[in-house]
Amino acid sequence: MKILVAVKRVIDANIKVRVRHDGSGVETANVKMAMNPFCEIAVEEAVRMAEEGIADEVVLVSAGPGPAKETLRTGLAMGADRAIHIVTEETLEPLAVAKLLAAVAAREDPGMILLGKQAIDDDCNQTGQMLAALLGWSQGTFASKITIDGDTITVTREVDDGLETVALTRPAVVTTDLRLNEPRYATLPNIMKAKKKSIDPLTPDELGVDITPRLEVLRVTDPPAREAGIKLDTAAELVDKLVNEAGVL
Ligand code: AMP
Repeated sequence: MKILVAVKRVIDANIKVRVRHDGSGVETANVKMAMNPFCEIAVEEAVRMAEEGIADEVVLVSAGPGPAKETLRTGLAMGADRAIHIVTEETLEPLAVAKLLAAVAAREDPGMILLGKQAIDDDCNQTGQMLAALLGWSQGTFASKITIDGDTITVTREVDDGLETVALTRPAVVTTDLRLNEPRYATLPNIMKAKKKSIDPLTPDELGVDITPRLEVLRVTDPPAREAGIKLDTAAELVDKLVNEAGVL
């Protein structure tokens, strides 16, 4: 089975995000970027499936400007076989990404497409669901466990009330949650090997996809600053405040 993995380049999760002065978005100039953490989990899962002989090819796809290639290289160094870079300078909304991925799926004919459950920059949590709808495929979102038996993909999903297990028929779209696995670090020999793996460029036009934005971001603002805490002298004072002010006891 071939597995497609969608990976997004985002601001590194360890960087404090700053909102641009004009409120038009967040500052990305001279900011450290990295693979979206949920996408790393998706790559790890696909590579493990290849190592177990379940997948015979792992193909990464990323849509975005030139540096998305670096993110693809990281995934190749983790063990993916090859990559597709959909080159565009435009801001991409989840629907546009889903259409691009659907067009790639039509060319590549994978048995499964793995995505992160959400990108930590826009927090949309929409692309996987839209992709499954566009393709008419089954979907298993928020996966904390994936097992494959023939044409059946069993996904344990993290839902509010606990865990839900669903059986999907291949081909399917699966999105990864945090507890699915712990992604590996790429080793130096694998980073060197990844330099020889292919990254094929494509454009939205070549895929026949219109990526014109349908949303207008009106403004982006910082979250409200947290109020300063207070220091108490005794445990009795703390209990008094919890009972009489916070009302939590
Ligand atoms: P979102 O719906 O924006 O929260 O993104 C969910 C997932 O969709 C990400 O974790 C990626 O797997 C995939 N995705 C989103 N944007 C892109 C992109 N530009 N290129 C490749 N995959 C993407």
